[in-house]
Amino acid sequence: MTSSKLASCESVRDTSQRARPSLDFFCLRWFLSGPLSTQIKVLSSVVDAESLQTPYQTDSTSFHPISACPISDPPVSSITVTADVLNGWAGDWEDAHHNHTHGRGDFATQPDGTGLLMRCCGEDRPGPGPSLTVAASRQEFVTIHDFVMAVHPWLLALEPDIRAAYGVFHSVPLAPEFDILVHPVGLSPLFLLNSKYAHPAALEVERRRVAEVVARKLAEKEKKGDEVEGNGMHHHFVYS
Ligand SMILES: [Zn+2]
Repeated sequence: MTSSKLASCESVRDTSQRARPSLDFFCLRWFLSGPLSTQIKVLSSVVDAESLQTPYQTDSTSFHPISACPISDPPVSSITVTADVLNGWAGDWEDAHHNHTHGRGDFATQPDGTGLLMRCCGEDRPGPGPSLTVAASRQEFVTIHDFVMAVHPWLLALEPDIRAAYGVFHSVPLAPEFDILVHPVGLSPLFLLNSKYAHPAALEVERRRVAEVVARKLAEKEKKGDEVEGNGMHHHFVYS
């Protein structure tokens, strides 16, 4: 297969097929607020949310074998990532300040003639959600490794904004003692969770739900007689 035969995620979407996370992506236990070496672990079984977790980074230059697997199903040559919480930040900020101005204040005129609130309570309106394009590097497709090596530092650089977006209705950023984690249910937008608004027990329920959905999908595929992923990588889904 040559890279020209692999669609980028955007063009996959143009043909209305979504590039879904690969089953391997569901195995990641990915936290922010620290280096990749301590913040990302890999679940040993994608269908068991309580299975053993091992570090993604095994020493200074080595990584878990999952790192070579595709990030998406179907594999893509590039993917443009946004973060759900930042995509919604400006809208949430506007809602939070909706009743403060009574039509006065710092508005910009939009093309349709209506005013867009630009500043309130000493805060500037947040910009639109940023995006990051991750391209395949060593293989024809974007691997888990391509993805985490690009997206983890990107999210860390955005962490102050992410915490501000979580706290937008209280005008106080999410405090550092609360964890932020990647919820492995989508690639773009990337869904983040935090331990203030999602209790640890609720997070575990979410994870069990992901594992159940994955188990059901695998069972459906096997019933149909399909080879999982169609490329002989079935063994990748259970790590021991
Ligand atoms: Zn205000």
